[in-house]
Amino acid sequence: MEREQRIKIAVQKSGRLADNSLELLKRCGLNYSRGTDQLICFGENMPVDVLLVRDDDIPSLLAEGVCELGIVGLNVLLEKAAEGPGLTEPTELGSLDFGHCRLSIAVPRGTTYRGTESLAGKRIATSYPRILATWLSERGIEAEIVVLSGAVEIAPRLGRADLICDLVSTGSTLAANDLEEVDLVLDSRAVLVAGERPADSLRAEWVDRLVSRVDGVLRVRESKYIMLHAPRAALDEIRDLLPGSEAPTVMPLDGMDDKVAVHAVCQENVFWETLESLKRAGASSVLVLPVEKMLA
Ligand code: ATP
Ligand code: ZN
Repeated sequence: MEREQRIKIAVQKSGRLADNSLELLKRCGLNYSRGTDQLICFGENMPVDVLLVRDDDIPSLLAEGVCELGIVGLNVLLEKAAEGPGLTEPTELGSLDFGHCRLSIAVPRGTTYRGTESLAGKRIATSYPRILATWLSERGIEAEIVVLSGAVEIAPRLGRADLICDLVSTGSTLAANDLEEVDLVLDSRAVLVAGERPADSLRAEWVDRLVSRVDGVLRVRESKYIMLHAPRAALDEIRDLLPGSEAPTVMPLDGMDDKVAVHAVCQENVFWETLESLKRAGASSVLVLPVEKMLA
């Protein structure tokens, strides 16, 4: 396919989102070759190329039309939303199942915090000034935002700020710096993002195809196919016990009038507890199988 008809998806080159992003694209059926230190990987079996960049650059690459899709943290997307005039705001297409973290307010241990009012007049260090400013103004709080590009967690100790607003996942970095998480500004995770829709219909079709494959991969990760035998009398109860399944298939069993076979795709994890409840409700021959692929 000609170069112009290919689409590009931008992902983080190295860092917390890099491996999961590339693995997701592989699961979507994309094969590509990756040399060391390469900026672009050419898809071998689809007209889709992968740009490997710093996560901070992804929103503007989308806004400028350099790539059609991207995978980036919601925190970065909201902070770097279209910065220039005439640029299209990238659209969030959906949440992915990795990159979870919180953008939180943290104070030096021992500081009393009585809700957002305690932030009034304080100096808050952060790398997310836009998100923080919006959050503060929504709450009618005036505070000074000290913008730092890194090492935010040491700002209070250096006397550069009274407290911080930074990304937290386990909280170990905060603890190591004697800081305490006291308020949540943004619940973040990796998201799939689109720039302007390509005018060319073939390219637009590939964008749609990739988006629907990502959706399929996410749904499959949690999905299970359940098969069981159920007494007709307990069918309603058993149907209600199947987690996240809309319409199970119910089939007659040869030579058995009082029992039916039930097959269902459960779009939630199936735990042992569920199987035990199914058994108590009268289910037998219960089989749980992984789902390989799914297309809505
Ligand atoms: P780059 O070199 O691409 O600019 P970076 O240092 O800015 O990388 P990472 O630390 O790899 O970025 O984090 C990338 C994203 O991972 C964050 O923007 C955030 O969405 C997510 N993330 C998940 N957990 C954490 C965490 N504990 N701290 C920071 N980011 C996290
Ligand atoms: Zn970054």
